[in-house]
Amino acid sequence: MSQDRFYYFDNNATTRIAPEVADAMIPFLRDGWANPSSAYRMAADVHRAVETAREQVSALIRCDPKELIFTSCGTESNNAAIHSALVTQPGRRHVITTAVEHSANINFCEYLKKQGFEVTLLPVESDGSLDLHLLEKSIRPDTAIVSVMLANNETGVLFPVEEIAAICRSKGVLCHTDAVQTPGKLSLDAKSLGVDFLSLSAHKLYAPKGIGLLYVKRRTRYQAYVIGGHQERGRRGGTENVPHIVGFGKAAEMAFAGYASEYQRVKRLRDRMESAILDQIPNSFVNGDRGNRLPNTSNIAFEFVEAEAVLMLLDQVGICASSGSACTTGSLDPSHVLTAMGLTPMRARGCVRFSLGIYNTEEDVDYVLLHLPPIIQRLRDISPLNPAHPDNDSYDIETARLKHEQDLAAATSKAE
Ligand SMILES: *Cc1c(COP(=O)(O)O)cnc(C)c1O
Repeated sequence: MSQDRFYYFDNNATTRIAPEVADAMIPFLRDGWANPSSAYRMAADVHRAVETAREQVSALIRCDPKELIFTSCGTESNNAAIHSALVTQPGRRHVITTAVEHSANINFCEYLKKQGFEVTLLPVESDGSLDLHLLEKSIRPDTAIVSVMLANNETGVLFPVEEIAAICRSKGVLCHTDAVQTPGKLSLDAKSLGVDFLSLSAHKLYAPKGIGLLYVKRRTRYQAYVIGGHQERGRRGGTENVPHIVGFGKAAEMAFAGYASEYQRVKRLRDRMESAILDQIPNSFVNGDRGNRLPNTSNIAFEFVEAEAVLMLLDQVGICASSGSACTTGSLDPSHVLTAMGLTPMRARGCVRFSLGIYNTEEDVDYVLLHLPPIIQRLRDISPLNPAHPDNDSYDIETARLKHEQDLAAATSKAE
């Protein structure tokens, strides 16, 4: 089946670059290539463009431009925040984070443990929420930092970071939040969140991959993670990635100006799609607290099927979705987020994440609703996991795929 278009439902993995963002970048790929640190006039415009972008992004998260450090990605920002907390407080060798963080945190903490640091991974409830009492009890005199995400990339569940930061302040412990999934979708205010550090990544906001930032609250001590030149006021070495920084600034400006209403529309699309899926597909369930989620994310468990098979059949018809984090796709392990929420590995392996974005349309949702129910039905008909079909001993995805193609061909020829 040849594909003339794709239906993209994986916006938590990355987003399309907005055409306006690409247009803003191009002059700095073609002509504005001077080193922004150079002293001649040719470099002055380039330097100014970086500072304009810094203002645009600081407006988005309501902070002082001086509080921002451009980094290479969200992963670097998360690593750098935790690293700084540890090296500026050498007597404190304990880190608290949660079991549902992005691998940028989970695997960095694994590494820290190997280096002799101590890490507490806070568990979550079945709806993905945190027990703040337990969080508070886990803070020790030698705790350097508490790092909790603002919104989960797999389920969209939000953590009450403002309350968590207040707990940290009362205990004299630094607080970091990974806010990568939130800009545009929620209004962000670094100061009222009360955190010391906050991470963002441009490619989740219709800007390119390879550019992120770390907000460091004024007067919070900071030790550079990438050490070199005096760029970023001595807090990150390396010549600035000017075109990407300009693109990030443009994306932030667009988000600040207009995404609130866009995401109300996205939320209506998500809700319509989710309710229809739950109505049309028996034994399907939403993962995570439905009332306390990002407006764009829907993570759905389909009993008796394997998500990998669902995704393969969706891909055949041009629908892009995922079974959790793009960073773990390809491994057969069930999602660490869903298993932390208490799903059995088997159930966790049957979960599909649809994450919508500002470019999704009603037509896209209709297209998913046309294809998904028969795909799940087809897979359940042959699933050895399905108690209604105890005789199924083979789980042949290829047969299912061919059947689905035949069904579609028959349906199309009928329609013609
Ligand atoms: C995508 C993502 C990251 C990683 O950002 P990169 O720029 O890809 O390194 C970190 N945290 C969350 C929650 C994410 O969704």
